[in-house]
Amino acid sequence: MTRMIYPGQTIGIIGGGQLGRMMALAAKEAGFKIAVLEPSMDSPCGQVADIRIVAQYDDESALEELAEVSDVITYEFENIDYEGLKRLTEIAYVPQGAELVRITQNRITEKEAISNAGCPVAPYIVAKNYDELVSQIELIGYPCIVKTARGGYDGKGQQQLNSKEDLPLAKDLFEHSHCVAEGFVPFEKEISVIVQRNGHGETYCLPVGENIHVHHILHETIVPARISGETYQKAIEAAEKIADYLQLVGTLAVEMFVLENGEIVINELAPRPHNSGHYSIEACNISQFGQHIRAVCGWPLRKPKMLKPSIMVNLLGQHVVPLTNSISKYPGWSVHLYGKAEAKVNRKMGHVTILTEDIDDTLKQIDSSGIWSE
Ligand code: AMP
Repeated sequence: MTRMIYPGQTIGIIGGGQLGRMMALAAKEAGFKIAVLEPSMDSPCGQVADIRIVAQYDDESALEELAEVSDVITYEFENIDYEGLKRLTEIAYVPQGAELVRITQNRITEKEAISNAGCPVAPYIVAKNYDELVSQIELIGYPCIVKTARGGYDGKGQQQLNSKEDLPLAKDLFEHSHCVAEGFVPFEKEISVIVQRNGHGETYCLPVGENIHVHHILHETIVPARISGETYQKAIEAAEKIADYLQLVGTLAVEMFVLENGEIVINELAPRPHNSGHYSIEACNISQFGQHIRAVCGWPLRKPKMLKPSIMVNLLGQHVVPLTNSISKYPGWSVHLYGKAEAKVNRKMGHVTILTEDIDDTLKQIDSSGIWSE
């Protein structure tokens, strides 16, 4: 049963990272209180929360405490303990349920769901161990990418194999998880669609973003994606189909490859707001975080509208000092920093969003700033 949650009530968030922080900030605008469950003392979300529960995500008594203080519970990352979340659905109001997390925590069940929704994925095989990989690999051939079924992110837990000789490189991946091996997709672009749905079935997508990765980590999102109108439409339809199939409540990020012929292939799903949707904070009439809060609180969703094209650029640890030194040069840039204490190399510390009428010109400005030139 969909419930309406009102300002003054408390939203519990599992996970204290930047996604939780931006969710919390959006919720606080409307007067909600925030409780966060997170193992570290000083987390990006903890800094802006009203109630902090410092414990592991699978700590039963901590989950019970979160249930007690929260009128509704959501999560900001998908590698939370599924069993814990399921138990939570029995003692608290968790409108997103636990099923979406179960499905998207594992690439095997995720790919099955995408296919069952009628959307294309790269050809793949499932291998429980290295021997199974060796015996089946010819079914997809080379080049291919072996990925752990569970636990991978930002290109971690993956190995590209270009020929039979590379096979042993994939051995270690089986240490903690079953794997999938998927055919290499010769994509032209990577795009993503953030689709959001409430318990009444109201569904909206944010404008399609074009994602540029550097060393497997998202570097830039350009919005709207520079793709044909037909491909744009296909991307939106695919995201809506998957959301409908999963009976989504909340937010789903759908990452896709665009082929030379304009067709799309779905790469992976994230059951939460996504780095590629951060641009919406400034560039749309509703941000992915504001819409997420509306969805889990049973509010009607707002039809998203792009106010202006935009580019979002991530700030990793090595970019923070150069950015800080350049703030005075770029009054038009919206700077977001997540309050993380230690600026480690390649750690996501923040992002910058630039609204623009001229994407090419702004890309040049980003380049010539030197901030991201390492
Ligand atoms: P993932 O963790 O699945 O998002 O993969 C990280 C990155 O690896 C993607 O953003 C792509 O750039 C690349 N990649 C993943 N799978 C494939 C594939 N099947 N074909 C080509 N590139 C891929």
